[in-house]
Amino acid sequence: MNVYDSRQIENMMRQAGYQRAGSADKADLIIVNTCAIRDKAEQKLYSLLGRLAPIKQRNPDVVLAVGGCVAQQEGKALLSRVPYLDLVFGTHTLNRIPELVARVISTKSRIVDVGIHVIEDPLPTENARGNGKEVSRFVTIMRGCDNFCTYCVVPYVRGRETSRAPDRIIAEIEALVGEGIREVTLLGQNVNSYGNREGLITFPELLLKVNEISGLSRIRFTTSHPKDLSDALIESFVSLEKLCPHIHLPVQSGSDAVLKRMKRRYTRDMFSERVAGLREKCGDIALTSDIIVGFPGETESDFQLTLDLIQEIQFDGLFAFKYSDRPNARAAGYMAKVSEKEKARRLQVLLDCQQAITLKKNRALEGTEQVVLVEGVSRMSDTRDPQWTGRSLNNKIVNFTIPEKIAPSEEDWVGRQVKVVIYKGLLHSLQGKMLA
Ligand code: SAH
Ligand code: SF4
Repeated sequence: MNVYDSRQIENMMRQAGYQRAGSADKADLIIVNTCAIRDKAEQKLYSLLGRLAPIKQRNPDVVLAVGGCVAQQEGKALLSRVPYLDLVFGTHTLNRIPELVARVISTKSRIVDVGIHVIEDPLPTENARGNGKEVSRFVTIMRGCDNFCTYCVVPYVRGRETSRAPDRIIAEIEALVGEGIREVTLLGQNVNSYGNREGLITFPELLLKVNEISGLSRIRFTTSHPKDLSDALIESFVSLEKLCPHIHLPVQSGSDAVLKRMKRRYTRDMFSERVAGLREKCGDIALTSDIIVGFPGETESDFQLTLDLIQEIQFDGLFAFKYSDRPNARAAGYMAKVSEKEKARRLQVLLDCQQAITLKKNRALEGTEQVVLVEGVSRMSDTRDPQWTGRSLNNKIVNFTIPEKIAPSEEDWVGRQVKVVIYKGLLHSLQGKMLA
């Protein structure tokens, strides 16, 4: 979401006459977009601001702005904490950034705007301009969240859930396709409740419309809350040819006691039942998830239940995080905190357990044919024998070569879907050779 928002900011500043500078020390304006999801993300802001301080010292006319979730959370306090900061703007102020920057410059004052305003929908073309090489883009379809999971800061910093109008989303994706984009990932904190509040179409209905956009090859989305994963959405994986067979379904914990205190509103059995439903309908759909270790009160046996669930489900990949207290989130007040050392240990045990599963799953793909959307030449590549890179339908990174006899390697394959036979499954990628 921040990637998407940052692009909107960049486009608005371009319209206001700014251009991207090569590096921070060549810029007249530095905008830092921030994430508050975990304490670590927030700390990154403070270390970055520390590194930017000498630039402001050398040239006080440089405008330094901080926006996004940490800005929304801290507001005025950020100006006091960072005396050389000029502008703090929140998550609902996106459309006002050019005006706010102009005001900082003309009044030579320090400004905070973290008010809750309606976020005007960006013009479709504003997201479109890319660097010509991009193949895949995020498209925000909803903002905010109403779920209030007890560990989570999102409802406080991003506000209530709102959905963008379908025609605006479609127009934006059509413009992206016109610029050469072939894959979109639709973004929302809980895409299943898309349109509910506004009485718009449902998420599966939106997917159907996106599926009809000609020139678009692939659709992905994130995130689907397990409690709301509907049969209609499962059906979409079967009926929509552009919807890629991969779902990110964050489970957070395998212990019902922890899930209850997290206020996730599903049990471990309900989660397993939904996964079984998915797999029954869509065979080899890839499944990834998020896990939080060390939620307050998580006992060793709760943690074992999570490990047990991981063994049972056999996810294709996991994002695992050490729990951290977030301002305003209810769990910050929960007792029985797990020590940092213990959280680190549990994280490592969990990652080791998942690594073995991921490797096993990727090795099982050796000998199979995968359809790959080509994104570019792989970074590891040497020029004599270029390695191309892209993603399979189920979202695995595939690095592959193109045999001389199939096609000259100078040909540009970016944005095209090709068939690749896999000869090696590694932990983070698959290795293959393009087929004729
Ligand atoms: N809306 C998505 C999650 C978005 S946040 C959902 O409900 O599934 C992305 C991930 O960050 C979460 O799934 C969770 O695993 C992690 N996360 C959120 N708050 C956290 C916290 N306080 N400490 C550690 N991890 C956290
Ligand atoms: Fe946070 Fe829960 Fe909303 Fe996801 S569903 S953004 S975890 S409050």
